[in-house]
Amino acid sequence: MDDLQKRTWAEISLKNIKSNYDAIRATLPHGCRFLGVVKADAYGHGALPVSMMLQEAGADYLAVSCLDEAMELRQGGITMPILILGHTPPKYTETLIDNNISQTISCLAKAEEYSAAASKLGKELKIHIKLDTGMSRLGFLCSGDHYEEGLKNVISACRLPGLIHEGIYTHFAVSDEEGEENEEYTREQFKLFTSFIEDLGKKGDIHFEIRHCANSGATLNYPEMALDMVRPGLLLYGYGDSKGKLGLKPCMRLVTTVSTIKIYEPGTSVSYGRRYVTDKKERIGVLAIGYADGLPRISSNKCSYAVSGGFAPQRGSICMDMCMIDLSDLPQVDVGSEVEIFGENNSIYNISDAAGTIPYELLCAVSKRVPRVYKD
Ligand SMILES: *Cc1c(COP(=O)(O)O)cnc(C)c1O
Repeated sequence: MDDLQKRTWAEISLKNIKSNYDAIRATLPHGCRFLGVVKADAYGHGALPVSMMLQEAGADYLAVSCLDEAMELRQGGITMPILILGHTPPKYTETLIDNNISQTISCLAKAEEYSAAASKLGKELKIHIKLDTGMSRLGFLCSGDHYEEGLKNVISACRLPGLIHEGIYTHFAVSDEEGEENEEYTREQFKLFTSFIEDLGKKGDIHFEIRHCANSGATLNYPEMALDMVRPGLLLYGYGDSKGKLGLKPCMRLVTTVSTIKIYEPGTSVSYGRRYVTDKKERIGVLAIGYADGLPRISSNKCSYAVSGGFAPQRGSICMDMCMIDLSDLPQVDVGSEVEIFGENNSIYNISDAAGTIPYELLCAVSKRVPRVYKD
């Protein structure tokens, strides 16, 4: 990178993503497909480079959240199948079809709209039916009293002209959380999913080539739920493997630099709101990173970042473009020194815990001002 640009950057290791991909692959039953979730710019890692890597590595499918994300991949040369997990306005049906993009169908009314659009064009749209088995988000209702009506609606959707029902899927609410109650809930969701699919076969002669439900949590904790394809996101980027079962590696290092250092007398307040006051003579460094780069302001005064030879506590409110750290006990850190916000030396969980959030949110929050630097 140009030295003048050396402010704040995110180092991405595609090699680590590949190694995570291989580690997850190795746990899958024979013939099980691998869908890599690359929505939200591949959780901040860069959708195109990550997808290129997955395509070369032999992944079977990609998933994004919307048409813009899918088109970015197609325009960048990605030819493998792509599934849109969210909604696409039916007026874009032709774009979907012409770019070989599969669309999630979450209710009969939408299926009818896509079907009408595709039929008018004399073309066919590949669809994946989404069932709501307990996440209460997108999907055909199918639990309890909705079971029969759900069956009827999915059968009708799949019989519509202009639609190829390639897949069916559902999403788990607590597959990544420990405890008996969570396990029971996940098993109930899975049971409902599989029996519903069985009934679609029995009652409607509707069959699917790809049945999938396993997000990262289920891929890790419930290998018996892999079915025809797994659908991990977080695991691919090296997190969520709480017990270190797979030996996954984090793939992003968020790095910044020390802009300036000053020595303050005891009793000096630091930053907006005067929320930190020095209690001795302190050596305070200013970092070239703030909440506009994705550093959560709510973690102000609560984290430490990795520097050469140790950890420097963050002091005072995090500003838009800067924040301060205490370098009193770290004389080796100087102006221009690199500081790792999170990465191999400082776990992202230290920061996400301090911010009361999850690694997902921190990864996605790394803003577009932060250049991604690909190491390998
Ligand atoms: C985001 C998403 C995933 C991936 O979730 P992870 O927890 O990152 O594995 C899988 N399926 C759906 C429908 C999603 O929205």
